[in-house]
Amino acid sequence: MKLNLNIKPLSEWIKVSSEPLLISGPCSAETEDQLVATAHLLAKTGKVSVLRAGIWKPRTRPGEFEGIGSIGLQWLKRAKDETGLPTAVEVATSKHVEEALNAGVDILWVGARSTANPFTVQEIADAVRGVDIPVMIKNPVNPDISLWCGALERMNNAGITKLAAIHRGFSSYEKTAFRNEPMWELAIQLKTLCPELPLINDPSHICGNRELIQYISQKALDLDMQGLMIESHIDPSVAWTDAKQQLTPEALSEMMDLLTLRKPESRDQEFSDKLAELRTLIDKLDDQIIQKMAERMQIVQKIGEYKRDNGVTILQVSRWDEIMNKRNAFASALKLDLNFTGKLLELIHGESIRKQTQIMNAKPLVEK
Ligand code: PEP
Ligand code: MN
Repeated sequence: MKLNLNIKPLSEWIKVSSEPLLISGPCSAETEDQLVATAHLLAKTGKVSVLRAGIWKPRTRPGEFEGIGSIGLQWLKRAKDETGLPTAVEVATSKHVEEALNAGVDILWVGARSTANPFTVQEIADAVRGVDIPVMIKNPVNPDISLWCGALERMNNAGITKLAAIHRGFSSYEKTAFRNEPMWELAIQLKTLCPELPLINDPSHICGNRELIQYISQKALDLDMQGLMIESHIDPSVAWTDAKQQLTPEALSEMMDLLTLRKPESRDQEFSDKLAELRTLIDKLDDQIIQKMAERMQIVQKIGEYKRDNGVTILQVSRWDEIMNKRNAFASALKLDLNFTGKLLELIHGESIRKQTQIMNAKPLVEK
């Protein structure tokens, strides 16, 4: 898969007042006082570069608070005038875009539910066509990187060059500690497809609770993401939406102080030499792993032919159980994570079965 985007660097459209880039504000604008007071406290921390607020809220069930609507844009304007913070809102229809642009909103973002729907994304793209406005695209609710790329491409095709992606985690059937599974590998894959695309992490929607936000924020920074979007409310206990995951501006500021900013590269020669030496070792080991994999597949080929010629099934469950038990015991003795080695073995076994199925069906069975 390819992702060719024509984009401007983040520094051309966000003035980062303090590293790392922090976008913050309430999940929803609720009242003028709540929004403006939160904005003032956030500005006072000196750590926030952009003020966010949900004006139209995509809710799973009808009857929940669906956002304060257009009037909130005027409150946001006041918050911006009084604090100097540029503003960002979620848009989901062409009408939202039109109203947000008319109210002088500085940055638009496309929410996770919208990114999952190409019709919605295209409607938004058509509405911003010809306008010089930055757009941030949240990952879709389902773990499908093509939808994420597609939304970025649709915006780019509409002439939007001030683009960023927001990683907010993915919905999963399995219940875990997170509201939305981070599935970091998808964010990393996006970054690999388009290294110049700014990637911002949204720990609030990944975590769904306050307690894990620092942990996820640190991990995002360690993966060299360009910034964080974190929900903040003057009094989270009475927030109308996402109450459990919002932080007071003060708690947000304290949390940010606990984060460690590491650099992607070091200019120190000794460090670079040592890293190069270790990478050479890794390269050598990776070559050996691939070599051994090829050797293993050659033997799999022989076994496949042998089974075929003797009319024996490809899968023998007892043999697979034996492999798993022995390898797990070995892996555990070597202090490897069994979840990791288990997945690796499943992958290798799956490939072996695929290969043997090919062999089995290449020639008719030899009758014995
Ligand atoms: C939000 O940012 O408040 C929001 C609704 O997020 P998401 O689209 O990630 O669910
Ligand atoms: Mn929210």
